[in-house]
Amino acid sequence: MVEKADIKWSELRFGYLKCEYRFISNFKNGKWDDGVLTTDDYLRIHEGSTALHYGQQCFEGLKAYTTKDGRILLFRPDRNAARMKSSCEQLLMAVYPEEKFIEACVKVVKANEKFVPPYGSGASLYLRPYLIGVGENVGVRPAPEYLFGIFVTPVGPYFKGGLAPCHFTIANYDRAAPRGTGGVKVGGNYAASLKAHKEAVDAGFSDCIYLDPATQTNIEEVGAANFFAITADNTFVTPKSPSILPSITKYSLMHIAEHYLGMKVVEREIPVTSLGEFVEAGACGTAAVISPIGSITNKGHRYSFYGEGKEVGPKTKELYRILTSIQNGDMEGPAGWVIEAK
Ligand SMILES: *Cc1c(COP(=O)(O)O)cnc(C)c1O
Repeated sequence: MVEKADIKWSELRFGYLKCEYRFISNFKNGKWDDGVLTTDDYLRIHEGSTALHYGQQCFEGLKAYTTKDGRILLFRPDRNAARMKSSCEQLLMAVYPEEKFIEACVKVVKANEKFVPPYGSGASLYLRPYLIGVGENVGVRPAPEYLFGIFVTPVGPYFKGGLAPCHFTIANYDRAAPRGTGGVKVGGNYAASLKAHKEAVDAGFSDCIYLDPATQTNIEEVGAANFFAITADNTFVTPKSPSILPSITKYSLMHIAEHYLGMKVVEREIPVTSLGEFVEAGACGTAAVISPIGSITNKGHRYSFYGEGKEVGPKTKELYRILTSIQNGDMEGPAGWVIEAK
């Protein structure tokens, strides 16, 4: 085992810390090269790159964890590979082969082994794969060349305070159009969310929740996390909509709710006015894992969940415990959920 870097792991926040190696591969003349690990954290790309002007780019996010016995696990990288493929297809970009995506994740994690936070630190290594349109261009058209990269950084919890209830408000803007790009992980969706997020934070909330753009009545998701809620009769409910980004964390929690906790799981519309039905609510995604929601404010009306937001509900706690135990190897998950970087 390599010696770990000199980092105060438990003080890490969700920020960028430069690690030694990143993976880069180029697509030219219709094919991907073998890719390399490099220490250079800057890219040199053409000024006409479509990624810069027309938002032709997508990204992924996943984490690596150290187990109690010192192995390194990646959580469901095959799902990220498949989702990046669908993002690329939607934006007419060259697809990076799914098998090679997983191989590259393993390669970059192993190369940066000393930056993978130790077991029990509460931190993990965040991987950021991205694929961008590059090359000489000026018109609105798919790029002639592409660049696929993965950088990594050790991260702590996304929201300060870890598993503590957050307070959300309904967004003043839309995130993604009904037949737009909400279902794929592309940067444009995020550019559109920065102002909504700032206004929510300025008003004293952790973040905002978007409603469905067509009717402004149903909960869609948080800016970078999916939404779920739990009823008093033990049902895990999560919104159904084509403009929600299919969160790997969400689908993992749905499986855990059903198969580990014996809950009923339902994907359906969730009218914002029906929030009073739920006893617990949360936001979920790779970065935050689960952020329990203490309250949601809509047009001056405040819907509170478990313990008025002072405590985390028991089901949310269980979902969090089981998911993180599978991720760090303490508990056996469904076949194929974790792969070892070795
Ligand atoms: C990435 C992302 C999520 C979370 O997805 P995970 O696969 O769970 O990390 C949720 N919503 C949006 C808009 C996202 O981009």
